[in-house]
Amino acid sequence: MEEKQSSPLSFEIQAKFGKARASILQLPHFRNETPMFMPVATKGSMKGLTSKQLIDAKCQTILGNTYHLSINPGTEILDINQGIHSFMNYPRSMLTDSGGFQMVSLIKLSEVTEQGVKFLSIKDNSEIMLTPEKSIEIQNSIGADIMMQLDDVVDVSISGPRSEEAMFRSIRWLDRCIKAHKRPTEQCLFGIIQGGLNTELRTICCNEMVKRNLPGYAIGGLSGGESKDDFWKIINLCTDLLPENKPRYSMGIGFPTDLVVCCALGCDCFDCVYPTRTARFGNALVRKGGTIKLKSPKFANDFRPIEEDCDCFTCQNYTRAALHTLVTKETIGSHLLSLHNIRFQMRLMEDIRKSIKYQTFDLFVKNFMKEQFSEAKNEKTIYPQWIIDSLSSQSIYLNEKIDK
Ligand SMILES: [Zn+2]
Repeated sequence: MEEKQSSPLSFEIQAKFGKARASILQLPHFRNETPMFMPVATKGSMKGLTSKQLIDAKCQTILGNTYHLSINPGTEILDINQGIHSFMNYPRSMLTDSGGFQMVSLIKLSEVTEQGVKFLSIKDNSEIMLTPEKSIEIQNSIGADIMMQLDDVVDVSISGPRSEEAMFRSIRWLDRCIKAHKRPTEQCLFGIIQGGLNTELRTICCNEMVKRNLPGYAIGGLSGGESKDDFWKIINLCTDLLPENKPRYSMGIGFPTDLVVCCALGCDCFDCVYPTRTARFGNALVRKGGTIKLKSPKFANDFRPIEEDCDCFTCQNYTRAALHTLVTKETIGSHLLSLHNIRFQMRLMEDIRKSIKYQTFDLFVKNFMKEQFSEAKNEKTIYPQWIIDSLSSQSIYLNEKIDK
């Protein structure tokens, strides 16, 4: 409790079901209800969606990309605008990454040393040195509620000395970030657990970072091509080691089934470009069957909304047939699908929260997975083994009968 004065974050667990938690994450700009999904705004905008549309879709915290924001609009303009909230006209809470993720995605353009990461700017090919201090300086200018430490990210397929080096370096960089943080009463700094698929390295990293008593912790370095079996086991290990009374953010998770599993394993926050990216390919997220491809000719005469019970703008105003003519051809097509897909994730999180509060989370998970994996033609539902295993580790057994 004595932390309350110094930390701009408070976290209160309202209900639990096994490891799953429903909580209130109070940040300077918004009182968030978790579990929550945080959509990604790459360059200070959400791929054609306005702030009002995001609020109408009941988005809470959204993500800004530090690397892109530092180049465009740049810290000078952000400083003039007193940070990202007024620049983007988004009054709710925001989170910025460190720019470190770019190491994996733009690996050819970067070089990692103990000092930091050297990039080539995508704007003019000039060299940029991103150090932990610089990352925090930029993120202090951006002014998001949550800032992420600069970490040394290696591809999850890399193990051995490089993976170990990256994990220990991430701890050293965390200490430099903590020192460099100039606005600790207005912005929270989260550490990022690294260590690849090595349980020993992950354990060391969790223990070291927890010693720093941060306002929250992220699990990084996953969803990069590892097996789903490795994925859930690392998440499960980390949530066992992280403190109960701090928010846990599982980075880069966006497939609805993964979100449900990670909630069961005790994660609170998630982000991913998946819902907006898949919208650009004409795919709508649905509870029954996972996704529908609206380009398919079978939707030309389908006059139902994407989902009958969805309250999003798109489902209230457009039929599948209308969307069929728009998707992948007109920009409005991808905007309309993005709106639905983002609202889909929000509704999913709302349902999870509710079921944790009402102690019906196991029932919700069973029904959700049945809908996702059931095929209309086939009576039987076949679940991926990793989903059966991860959920049964939390005493949720998918092949048991569902009592309504
Ligand atoms: Zn909808």
